[in-house]
Amino acid sequence: MYETEPVSVSLTENRWNDDDAARWERDAGAEPADRDLALRIYTSRLIGGDPDLVLHGGGNTSVKTRRGTSGEVMHVKGSGWDLATIEAPGLPALHLDAIRSGGRAGALSDPEMVALLRANLLDAQSPNPSLETLLHGFLPAKFVDHSHATAVLALVNQPDAAEICGVVYGDRLAVVPYVMPGFDLSIAAAEIADANPEAEGLWLVNHGLFTFGETARQSYDRMIEFVNMAERHLASHGIAILPTDEGPQEHRFIDLLKERLQAAGPVFADAIAIDARTGPTIRTFHEHPDLADLATRGTVTPDHVIRVKPFPLLLKSTDSAEAIDRALKNYGTRYEAYFRAGEAQAKEPKTMLDCLPRVAHIENVGMVGFGKTAGEAKIVADLTSQSMRVMLAAESYGRFTPLTPGHLFDMEYWSLEQAKLKK
Ligand SMILES: [Zn+2]
Repeated sequence: MYETEPVSVSLTENRWNDDDAARWERDAGAEPADRDLALRIYTSRLIGGDPDLVLHGGGNTSVKTRRGTSGEVMHVKGSGWDLATIEAPGLPALHLDAIRSGGRAGALSDPEMVALLRANLLDAQSPNPSLETLLHGFLPAKFVDHSHATAVLALVNQPDAAEICGVVYGDRLAVVPYVMPGFDLSIAAAEIADANPEAEGLWLVNHGLFTFGETARQSYDRMIEFVNMAERHLASHGIAILPTDEGPQEHRFIDLLKERLQAAGPVFADAIAIDARTGPTIRTFHEHPDLADLATRGTVTPDHVIRVKPFPLLLKSTDSAEAIDRALKNYGTRYEAYFRAGEAQAKEPKTMLDCLPRVAHIENVGMVGFGKTAGEAKIVADLTSQSMRVMLAAESYGRFTPLTPGHLFDMEYWSLEQAKLKK
């Protein structure tokens, strides 16, 4: 199953710079908590600045420190902030003991968890802390970093993802089987971390990687080292992660698709933006012999489903307007079946979102992301671009095995994720 010819590895770069780090600390002043926060911002931006680590608000980071009369606090990424451009207000502080004891007191519903976090903010004006705040809080390490690195996603989305972790990392990473993000994942991950006190991070099946450290540098160094180990492991199996295609694409077919999407329902009737791309990696993906299956198996992280829907639309450049309409109708039927199956398992009633795709793969043309705004279309296209690279690497390694439709439904219809989109 595995190829063995060596391939050249392009490794994710460690971009730590002593002078830059020293400047961040110096500019923060004398207060130790401010200096901790400054380094937290610095390495958060290093992670956020690399699209092969996180994309568009993905991932999160935290630091635990002491702040004057407030005692032990934790700064954690606020909802709506992007690690690439994060600033101090994007890392709100919480009373650490209070969220730890409140989070351990018993099972919390989503609104109860958000209320616990909000009630323990030092500054009531802060944005909502990340939905992973309790997970960060339960972990004992001072610095905690979380990413969705491309190479890691190719390996966590394998049927034997847990065994792969042991082979590549030994005991350095502890395996967390897939659990829905939020309260349940916080508890599960905390228990696993407690049982593996020597672990330097967590390997989240179907999701990504956490690293810990006593300094900002140690946690960041471990993140890059572990990502590099995943990259080398893929290379040792003859697998190179293909480069990202940046080439924009204009094509008569895309104009036709845009028109048919606007006619298909109210979502895009008033406004539609398109981000269409082409290039060698996209062509390789479209020429995959199992494209129809591979492309629609599921998303590469739980978060992605919110932006790209559980599966894309597949078209051919020769399709007529009628054929596109038919494909959109079939997409809606498939999406509704996914919704009905998920709804039947859900604990509370759900309202179906629109049944139109956000991504189209068009044979001989390219990949297209759509949204109501250019910004939305770009996010969709960027996430899809990374997903294609993950899927190709994962499928060459073994079998790309993402979250089940039921898990995707739970994320897409999670009240807290729905709230993020409305912002
Ligand atoms: Zn994540």
